[in-house]
Amino acid sequence: MKRLMTNASFQSFYKMMRIHSYVNITSAEGPGKRFCVWMQGCRQHCVGCYNSETWPLRGGSTITLKKLLAIYEKAPENEGVTLLGGEPFLQPKPLEQFCQLVHKKGKSVVVFTGYTLEQLLQMGNPAVDAFLHQIDLLIDGPYIQALQDFSRPWVGSSNQRYHFLTERYCQADIAAYVNKLEIRLQSDGKVRVNGIADEATIESIIKVMENKVRI
Ligand code: SF4
Repeated sequence: MKRLMTNASFQSFYKMMRIHSYVNITSAEGPGKRFCVWMQGCRQHCVGCYNSETWPLRGGSTITLKKLLAIYEKAPENEGVTLLGGEPFLQPKPLEQFCQLVHKKGKSVVVFTGYTLEQLLQMGNPAVDAFLHQIDLLIDGPYIQALQDFSRPWVGSSNQRYHFLTERYCQADIAAYVNKLEIRLQSDGKVRVNGIADEATIESIIKVMENKVRI
């Protein structure tokens, strides 16, 4: 027998969230292959942030939880979901519900935040607490340019920390990964780059691409 949704869960399924962009499958934003969503809106404004286009709270586009889940389900080979930004903790309610559904499918959740875990816990916000309970690996702290350090996977400065909030991942899992960049030529002709690398590497990639374009 098909179970009917309760009115409350039906409503939440159509809840809106504001995102900047997403990539269906990436290997550069957490363990294994992942569905990665850049949330829209961030108040941290870290000097040297590579994603400053995600800062405006009213930028990006809106999407329902239902639609985001449908996009996510197009790539069942993914190990899980990564949420970054922008600041995911500005939209804790819909993201907590999204992550609950991801976990129900046996997949993992990785979240990057510009807040520290201590700051999040001190907020005393039940929605933030509930969202934290849905996260396997939390990577916290703002990007601090003076502490730039690309020696650890997926993070840009040495103050940022990995918090293993469930038993899904551990430090040994992290040690198995190195930073990488992914470059995609999109169907609209634009080039999309995600991942992490130092400025010299990025500049040399741009030069190679410019030369290719000239040929
Ligand atoms: S928290 Fe992240 S998205 Fe926000 S300004 Fe800092 S680096 Fe950029």
